[in-house]
Amino acid sequence: MTAHVKPKALENFKARDFRMLIDGAWTQGAGSAIERVAPGHGVVVSRYPAGTKADAERAIAAARRAFDNGPWPNMTGAERSNILLKAADLIAARADELAFLDTIESGKPISQAKAELGGAVDIWRYAAALARDLHGESYNTLGDGTLGVVLREAIGVVSIITPWNFPFLIVSQKLPFALAAGCTTVVKPSEMTSGSTLVLGEILIEAGVPAGVVNIVTGTGPEVGSAMTTHPDVDMVSFTGSTGVGRLTMANAAQTLKKVSLELGGKNPQIVFPDADLDAFVDAAVFGAYFNAGECCNAGSRLILHTSIADDVTARIAELAKKVKVGDPLDPTTQVGAIITPQHLDKIGAYVDSASKAGASVALGGGALDLGLGQFMAPTILSGVKPDMAVAREEVFGPVLSVLTFDTTEEAIRIANAIDYGLSAGVWSRDFDTCLTIGRKVRAGTVWMNTFMDGASELPFGGYRQSGLGRELGRHAVEDYTETKTLNMHIGARTGWWMPR
Ligand code: NAD
Repeated sequence: MTAHVKPKALENFKARDFRMLIDGAWTQGAGSAIERVAPGHGVVVSRYPAGTKADAERAIAAARRAFDNGPWPNMTGAERSNILLKAADLIAARADELAFLDTIESGKPISQAKAELGGAVDIWRYAAALARDLHGESYNTLGDGTLGVVLREAIGVVSIITPWNFPFLIVSQKLPFALAAGCTTVVKPSEMTSGSTLVLGEILIEAGVPAGVVNIVTGTGPEVGSAMTTHPDVDMVSFTGSTGVGRLTMANAAQTLKKVSLELGGKNPQIVFPDADLDAFVDAAVFGAYFNAGECCNAGSRLILHTSIADDVTARIAELAKKVKVGDPLDPTTQVGAIITPQHLDKIGAYVDSASKAGASVALGGGALDLGLGQFMAPTILSGVKPDMAVAREEVFGPVLSVLTFDTTEEAIRIANAIDYGLSAGVWSRDFDTCLTIGRKVRAGTVWMNTFMDGASELPFGGYRQSGLGRELGRHAVEDYTETKTLNMHIGARTGWWMPR
């Protein structure tokens, strides 16, 4: 049994008790409390209400009233934009508090959590700009008797469901865009990392978001999430999480034909040619595999190396990976923090064992690290992985890098595409034709060329195939939360039996 030592930064820390936000009021709800044990420290750090189906229904009713009666959907884009900008400023002002919550609840390193907060502030500002620019189309080319106008209207009540791995960043990829469009919302954060989303509720009230526009219900997926995906008064579901729950969400939403946006899992390949800048690649491979302890939909967990460089490059990655600092998430020098739960650590270990049994070699790490804190996993490299092994096809969601090899470009593309996911991919070569060939043939929502995991608020993000449906970020992100309405207007006297043209 690991002895859990409270780090200095938690010495005077008292677990924080949160409440839910329904119709502008903070409430405990009728359910019990969910206790969150910090993955990196083994102590209770937060308590959130275990919301019930009835809480979710009250929140949906509040969002429905706020949409149907206004004022939020009827405000001008400029008015909504100003409130979102104020929210961005308040997020920036409370960034340290929010980053601290994400760190203690998820186990991610504090320096990384702070960087995520910086990214989130930028997204809120970007969405605020789009709120003023949302517009439809007009057609003045339909003949003298017709004018066509296509309106973009807010879709209505949106259920937003988020995972634990980037608690504040992911709610920020959804909520400001839904709000910019004029929607009202019910938000359910992961039951493991609800703290920063609840603080966001305080921020939005202070920024001037009216009651009922953003409701935040904590609790489990089967209880709260199910109600949010099946209720007839919800018009759209925006979900980020595992492909399995994404599938269930889509089936639930199908009962009332809600629009669904899904950001799901990934098993992202990085294809490396011998002419690449291998120093840069080795650095990116280590970052891509171990960032957020590999608990990242975008993790570059599947290297596809040209046979001629595979042994040398694998050895270089192992050397660099040994220097990655795994440790206390609250230490500002830590690069890799804790694993989300002890059960998840076991699941990662089982993937490594099954790959070893199937013939892969453990080139680095392979097991848990006892740091006398919570649960941690050593950066791990598996070489000799074959495309049909589970570790090459399934999302391990831990710091485990699988190394596969190829001889021809066609083979690399075939291996890259031979899985159910299609979230992101990377290609490394100094040859322009090689990069573009891979970029066009690999079926993934993002393909990085000579870099990995870069992003910007302006660039759409999302997956092909079982990695999801729809795109977040970019200028289309606001449009995703709208319906189009066609106004077909007749000019002058209308006579005669209508005939198609
Ligand atoms: P998860 O699917 O277990 O949970 C996600 C959310 O769904 C949580 O809030 C959970 O409570 C809720 N949920 C669970 N059951 C539900 C149900 N029956 N109905 C409605 N909601 C339900 O995922 P997780 O373990 O929290 O997160 C990890 C997964 O998220 C990984 O697969 C990862 O790849 C994926 N992810 C994807 C992206 C992306 O942008 N593509 C980003 C981050 C994480």
